This record gives sequence, C-alpha cells and structure tokens, in this order.
Amino acid sequence: LTQPQTSKGLHIVHIAAEMAPVAKVGGLGDVVSGLSKSLQRKGHLVEIVLPKYDCLQYDQISGLKALDVAIESFFDGQLFKNKIWVGIVEGLPVFFIEPQHPSMFFHRGSFYGEHDDFKRFSFFSRAALELLYQAGKKPDVIHCHDWQTAFVAPLYWDIYAAKGFNSARICFTCHNFEYQGAAHVSELSSCGLDIQRLDRPDRMQDNLAFDRINPLKGAIVFSNIVTTVSPTYAQEVLTPECGRGLHGTLTIHSKKFVGVLNGIDTDSWNPSTDIVLPVKYSADDLQGKAENKDGLRRHLGLSSKKAFQPLVSCITRLVPQKGVHLIRHAIYQTMELGGQFVLLGASPIPHIQMEFEGLASHFKNHPDARLILKYDEVLSRLIYAASDMFIIPSLFEPCGLTQMIAMRYGSVPIVRRTGGLNDSVFDVNDKTIPVQFRNGFSFSKPDEQELNNALKHAFDYYTRNPENWRKLVQNIMRLDFSWDSSAQQYEELYEKAVIKARAAANLA
Ligand code: ADP
Repeated sequence: LTQPQTSKGLHIVHIAAEMAPVAKVGGLGDVVSGLSKSLQRKGHLVEIVLPKYDCLQYDQISGLKALDVAIESFFDGQLFKNKIWVGIVEGLPVFFIEPQHPSMFFHRGSFYGEHDDFKRFSFFSRAALELLYQAGKKPDVIHCHDWQTAFVAPLYWDIYAAKGFNSARICFTCHNFEYQGAAHVSELSSCGLDIQRLDRPDRMQDNLAFDRINPLKGAIVFSNIVTTVSPTYAQEVLTPECGRGLHGTLTIHSKKFVGVLNGIDTDSWNPSTDIVLPVKYSADDLQGKAENKDGLRRHLGLSSKKAFQPLVSCITRLVPQKGVHLIRHAIYQTMELGGQFVLLGASPIPHIQMEFEGLASHFKNHPDARLILKYDEVLSRLIYAASDMFIIPSLFEPCGLTQMIAMRYGSVPIVRRTGGLNDSVFDVNDKTIPVQFRNGFSFSKPDEQELNNALKHAFDYYTRNPENWRKLVQNIMRLDFSWDSSAQQYEELYEKAVIKARAAANLA
C-alpha cells in the first residue's frame, strides 16, 4: 500500500469521481489525469483515488490487482469493509475503492445520476481518507474535486487531523458551481460528520435552503486552497447572477480562491499521433486534415461534393448550460450560410435528449447535417480533426476543453465570451487584442442574432481568403494549451500552502 517517496517533490493525492480515460463523464476526468501527469513529470509523487465503478474502462488500466488488505470505513453508524484495488492508468498509480456495502454503490452501470449520489460519494470520500490514513501515507496535498469529493475537506479537519493524520493541506477545485450536491441536513451524519457543528451559516448550511447542507460550501470553508477552472469564471461566480448562492461564501473566502485555466492533455490530443485518425497531420502539413474531412463526410453519409464547404461541429453534453437552443439554431444557420453541421452530444435530461432525437431523425438523410446522440470518444476525435469550425454557444462555461482540443486539431472556435472561453478565444476582428493572440470568433450576448453574426464572420473569413484561413488554422494548432503552465500554477499554490503549514508547525 505504501510507496516510498523517491523525489524531492511533493506527495499529492487526488481524490475524485472521474479520471480520463477510465472514468470520464466530462472535463473533470480530463483535468484529473492531465494535471496529474504534468505534476508527475515535474517530479512530484502523484496518486489518485477513485471509486471502483463497474463501468470503468477496464482495458485502460494496467496491472489491476486487489490488495490483501480490506480497509474498514465508517458509514451510518457502523464499519463497512472496502476492497482496495491498485492499477496504473496513463502511467499514474491509482487506488480503486470497492465498498462492500449492501447498496452496491458503484455497481450501477453509470457514474452519476443515482437517487443516492449523496450517500455514494460521501461514503467514498470517507473511505478514501480512511485508506490514506490506514496506509500510513503522509501526503503534502490532498486535492479533491467537485461536490462528490467535497466531503473530504470537513472530514479531514474534523476527524482525521484529530487522529494525527494531518500532514496535508487540502486543495479543492470546483469545476462547475452549478452542481453543489445539497441535500437534507440529516444526510450529513452518515459519513460521520457532526451536524451540530456543521449546520451553520458560516460552515455547511446551504445559503438558499436552510434545511439543506451543502458539500460544495463545506469544501470552500474547510479547504486551504480553493480553485476554479478559469480566471474569468472565478470573477463571475463572485456575483449573485453566477455564484448559484455561493457568491457570499466565496467572497468571504476570496483570499484563498483563485481561477487557474485548465490545460489539455496534448499527448492524448495530438493530430500528428492520434491513432484514431485515418490520416495524421500537423500545422506544417494540413493535407491530412482535408482527407479526414472527406473521410468523416463519407462515414456519416454527408455530401462530399464541395471540398470547400465549411464543416461546423459541436461536441458537448446537451445541458442548458451549453446553450442548447443556440446549438439547435446553429444547425439551421450553418446550412443557411451554405455549410455542413455535425453534432455529437448526449443529454442526461430526457426532454432534451428527446428533442434532439427528433432533430436527428429529421436530418437522418440530409446531405449537410448529421446529429449523433451518444458519447463516443473515437468519433469525437474524427470530428475534431475533420471540422473547419467548432461552435460553443454556452450560457456559462467554467473553462471548457472543447475549444482547446478543437484548436489543437485546427478547427477554428466560435464561442460565446464567458468563463474559460473568454480566457482562451480571442476574436480575429478584435482590435484590442494583439494580433498574435487572435484565434477564433466570439460573441457576447447568448442570443440568435449575435450567434448569426459570429458564424457569418467566420464563413466570410473562410470563403474570402483561403490563404488567411490556412494561416489561422496553423496558428491555432501551434498554440500551447498543454498542462505545463497550469500545472505550474497549481505547483506554486501547493508549495505556498505547504510552506505556510510547515512554518506554523515549527512555531507550535
Ligand atoms: P463539460 O465538462 O462541461 O462537459 P468540457 O468542455 O470541459 O465540458 O469537457 C468536455 C469533454 O467531454 C471534452 O473532452 C469533449 O471532447 C468530451 N465530450 C463531450 N461530449 C462528448 C460526446 N458526446 N462524445 C465524446 N466526447 C464528448
């Protein structure tokens, strides 16, 4: 269980509900593996703790084995055994926790969306800390993510620090303030947290419904470092319109709150090595991109008659945040402008999924539009590579990874200026931005008119001057969206917190 720390670097443990590619629902999964890999390359010892879901991508784990030890963790007044598995994912050591609990928390065939998610993840948070504690680990940083592992922060300070397991500082990253995991107060005690102590306005009581307890708020209050995934989003959530009830809490804790723009895993997202692509290509040789476009059109049964007909795509979870009505509008508007549209998306919301299924069957045999309503990473890669433009009309977007992946594959982003989109996409016509940073098209208000204008600008740019378009494509492919600079920011945050903690310990 224990692993000696060989480097002079920090010992960092991520506790999370997702990690790409074994357990990925959205950006969180990409962040956990991308950030961890980058930190490992910088010489830190990085370990990850995940639930052992039955729906893990088991073929992506090497050397998976169950350990002889069973870790017992507290829940609902008793101890439950947890089977612990270890394996390597993307070169990183990962512990998988399999609770021996009658509710079979992670044998549900899906990651989230279960009626007992609060129980599933509060159980997991407790078991993950118990594992670290019983294994005798002495991490410098425990980094937890989103409400599912937000329980780690109060559990650590209220229960584990008191047992002497107190070497670590807690870093918490919120990837989306829309999901807070609030539940009735009574639920909190299952994992051993003390309702009397925590159900208070300055601790875990929900700011909007006083009979509820809010794990996300708990992590903001109890962590040493709180981050979110872009500087613009960090500003936005301090306002009542975007803070989803937590702007007041964030303002009180603003000294430890910062926005760090995510990176992408540039090894995995690389058109010159991507094994999925029929033809590899790079900024220096774009011929392969045209061939992939042709290949995708044939694969999806779209017309291939006009090579210079722009292909616009969108790859997304179909949830209100992503501006679903604008995505729908963009399909029609793209065809109106003479382009082709491909949507790859799935919705956890039944009425949205149904609406788009209707649209998908409407366009089933259309020469210029195709909607594929499922989660399919292989297809996503083919689409990123084939597209000329990539549209993201989000109402809000904490960071957004698809604009960065799209650029890496030479698809020019058309985005609404919000959150991380505002920090990574700069309009080619915006004279206030230095020319070398301009890399796409953007609009401000999330309405059809503004989206039409941005699409039209992009189409004009594409058709009027193919040479300029080619240069734009080459420029965006050469931009550095790797984790290196973001990981360095995390490294600095961790180091500052660790130095402060050591200084305090020496004084004591
Ligand atoms: P979010 O985390 O809000 O879903 P992000 O832009 O941060 O959005 O991350 C989305 C990630 O999920 C990207 O890697 C994107 O390629 C991937 N993705 C989203 N929808 C699909 C889908 N239907 N099929 C394959 N990949 C998808």
